[in-house]
Amino acid sequence: MLWMMKTNSEIAHIANEVLTKYVTRGGVYKVFHEIMNAEGIKFREVESSSNDFVGALTKGNNGQTYIMINCAIDNEGRKHFTMAHELGHYFLSHQLKQNTFYCSKNEIVEEGAWKDTIEQEANHFASCLLMPEEKVKNAFLGILSRSRKAKIKDFLHIKNDGTFGIWVPIRDELTKRYGVSEAALRYRLQQLKLAKFEFGS
Ligand SMILES: [Zn+2]
Repeated sequence: MLWMMKTNSEIAHIANEVLTKYVTRGGVYKVFHEIMNAEGIKFREVESSSNDFVGALTKGNNGQTYIMINCAIDNEGRKHFTMAHELGHYFLSHQLKQNTFYCSKNEIVEEGAWKDTIEQEANHFASCLLMPEEKVKNAFLGILSRSRKAKIKDFLHIKNDGTFGIWVPIRDELTKRYGVSEAALRYRLQQLKLAKFEFGS
């Protein structure tokens, strides 16, 4: 079998290679279409009768690779995460294992581990691609260090108290910068051990 499971750091490394190749500045979501063009991938937003269908990576009989996403996704962050997830299947060479991935709502998760290895790899890739470790770290710590309310400058424990007020400007700034949902951002910050959340959404 040509396809092999990858560790999180291998996945981060592959995501960083893509970023180095295609992104000069700003969020990667702005150049998704350039990446797909350069890789010879055709992009389609499709209507689906299934509510469950979110995105897919498929190869046509003619060998053409397509990324398709459900046009009913109305949340920009969710849409970007889905595109990054499908690019994950592509750049992690999952096509060597199977030709087509139809990814459902339950498989594309912005906020945590998923039991299926292949889907988990694509989710981790999406997280690393959209929110590169070093950039997110610098941006997060930069805002935190300028916050007059934050006492600790390298970690934020957010609860239903004054710490929530420190979180709000960080959340607003970073979700906008990286084109991600709050759920995806929270998960990434926790994973990078920069923040801990103890409140509902
Ligand atoms: Zn998938």
